[in-house]
Amino acid sequence: MLQTYNIQVKGLVQGVGFRPFIYKLALRYKLKGSVENRNDGVVIKVNNRTFKHSNNRIIEEFIQTIKEEAPLASNIVSVSYEITDQELFSDFRIIKSTNTSEEITEISPDIAVCDECLEDMQLQENRINYPFINCTNCGPRFTIIKDLPYDREKTTMHPFIMCEKCRKEYSDIMDRRFHAQPVACKNCGPQYELITKNNRIHDPETILQTTCKLLEEGKIIAMKGLGGFHMACDALNEESVKKLRKSKNRDGKPFAVMFADIEKLKEFTQLNSAEELSIKSWRRPIILLHEKKKLAHSVSVGFSTVGAMLPYMPFHYLLFEKLKLPAIVLTSGNISDEPILIDNDDAEKKLLGISNALLIYNRKIYNRTDDSVAFIINNTERLIRRSRAYAPSPVRMNMDVDGIMASGAELVNCFCVGKGNQAILSQHIGDLKNIETLDFYINTIEQFKKLFRVTPNLLVHDMHPDYLSSKHFQGLDGKKISVQHHHAHIASCMAEHHLDEKIIGVALDGVGFGDDNNIWGGEFFVCDLNEYKRITHFDYVPMPGGDMATKEPWRMAVAYLYKYYGREFLKNNFQFLKKRNPNDIEMLLMAIDKNINCPLTSSAGRLFDAVSALINLCTFSTFHAEAPMRLETIADKNIIDSYEFQLNSTIQLNKTFNKIIEDLSKNIHVSVISAKFHNTIINIIFAVASKIRDDYKINKIALSGGSFQNRYISEKVEKLLTQNNFQVYTQCTVPSNDGGIALGQLAIAAKRRSLKCV
Ligand code: ZN
Ligand code: ZN
Ligand code: FE
Repeated sequence: MLQTYNIQVKGLVQGVGFRPFIYKLALRYKLKGSVENRNDGVVIKVNNRTFKHSNNRIIEEFIQTIKEEAPLASNIVSVSYEITDQELFSDFRIIKSTNTSEEITEISPDIAVCDECLEDMQLQENRINYPFINCTNCGPRFTIIKDLPYDREKTTMHPFIMCEKCRKEYSDIMDRRFHAQPVACKNCGPQYELITKNNRIHDPETILQTTCKLLEEGKIIAMKGLGGFHMACDALNEESVKKLRKSKNRDGKPFAVMFADIEKLKEFTQLNSAEELSIKSWRRPIILLHEKKKLAHSVSVGFSTVGAMLPYMPFHYLLFEKLKLPAIVLTSGNISDEPILIDNDDAEKKLLGISNALLIYNRKIYNRTDDSVAFIINNTERLIRRSRAYAPSPVRMNMDVDGIMASGAELVNCFCVGKGNQAILSQHIGDLKNIETLDFYINTIEQFKKLFRVTPNLLVHDMHPDYLSSKHFQGLDGKKISVQHHHAHIASCMAEHHLDEKIIGVALDGVGFGDDNNIWGGEFFVCDLNEYKRITHFDYVPMPGGDMATKEPWRMAVAYLYKYYGREFLKNNFQFLKKRNPNDIEMLLMAIDKNINCPLTSSAGRLFDAVSALINLCTFSTFHAEAPMRLETIADKNIIDSYEFQLNSTIQLNKTFNKIIEDLSKNIHVSVISAKFHNTIINIIFAVASKIRDDYKINKIALSGGSFQNRYISEKVEKLLTQNNFQVYTQCTVPSNDGGIALGQLAIAAKRRSLKCV
């Protein structure tokens, strides 16, 4: 007999062309019924095709195909079905959602232009070379959404009235642009404009030609991207890249580079299949790759890697079609630490002066996103910066996080709101100490509350009372709790993997406020989501000058030397101290003696700083984590030797420093010393973890904290632990740096709420 099946698809299935996809699939399978958007996904009702037999083979095939052929940017979490009351359908149709509740599903992140649209850009008369082409499978989403439900009038496409042709496609269920909210063509959609010092160009062809000409001549162009402005120049022209560095007021931090296509990318970088998959994905992140052929020296001064990406906006494709360059620097359009600019007028004021031309378009960016950054370790993508094309996809939790909001940290901030069992992380916000960034933080929190319809009643922030995020949260209404920084790091990793049991937690990190008022950052815990026990940590050492020590790694080197050798070390004539004024050194020692602004720290980041300075590699940092990054980049991968260390109640490094100094005096190359030091850290992690496993009978280990973005360490330590039968958990979908910490804060708060501890 004829049966009616009720199929529920959950996950990210809205705004990604899901209903038209189901419609076409139903036609293919000759099924009659309906598809409808609901709060938590999509509901499909179909009649079985035949009266003759009641088996559900067709339905199961249909479901299988849904999973296999789902639109690229959709994310199906589950498909289930049941046989319901019989309904008879005469055709298959998309029915208008009857859902009026405040509940929503998900907001799609932005999607790189699809192949079909690129083809249309050459064939469709009203879209030839039209750079705002898109369809249900591609185009802007989060960056243009002001409110939900996701409809055109709730986006920044609202001012553009669809022309006849576009409307027809928009209304035609068989069309790829059916209900594609940003649908547009050259007759009705947004347009670019190129502003030079004395001219404003509107003709698309002239804009492209002029842009190419300027770039080829080595000029700098500020151009509006998907989630904010970029600044661009020829990536092989040293003069231009240098000039760009200067005008952006940026010292040593590497620039991202966009390559014309995959062939050019392969000419300049080495990439394995996992890296290729990531860089070509619809998210089009920046992937850190090994450089094969030199770009301009100033692109990534002294680093062997390059942050590479492929075109993702239609305009990028049009540009590279004409441009006679294989690659351009494409860095965020901002001045030093300010958030990336999104507004045309602001860009004209701030960027035109430091570039040769400004390329804008007349559609507003509503939600700011930076390019996301990732790298591949042991064949898995690890995020370093989670923003464009990743945010605001939720992280699914195995617990109720509803109504909780987590503040994140301070330097690399992302916050997080809980809705049901979804943790919705904000896009990368940045360093809150910058006043514009703090504004961005505060505004985005309000935007998220409105967009996702959450009224937080439990607020969780870092234990550090002076973090600007903690301070902001203290001023908000609602119950508040604070959590320890490194517990939150480990909890973030646990949350990603749905772990809620006692595990070994290794947090190697920059700095975070500890229970004993010292600055933690090299911590070994036994913990679950609720509580933690600090088993051991790197031995405390003073951080002379507090935050200053983070910017001036030579201070950390002196602190370690003074700790282990007293004034004796001064006789050693260390290279890294030769340029220091002896008075400065004396002042530092006196500050340590008198304990003036010398908080104690167990930070792994500061230890790396110390070694980086000690071998005279990086004594002053021009950007966050520069010293450890430079130390990593020089490490000789073929060295298997390491240094000694001691495990007492804490991890002691006297012997490590003895041997490093011995190697220095023997003129052993710094690349060897660096490798031996890295291997030492790996051995320490393994030794401590093994001891904890023996003592506590725990086999699961979570690794988190900024230091695990050290590829050398992560690659090797994960393998070593796995080979020795540890179950190793690391961060992939959220960064292991402070950008992922809000997820951990949220998980801890949810756990404590469930235990009625808050
Ligand atoms: Zn498309
Ligand atoms: Zn049109
Ligand atoms: Fe941290």
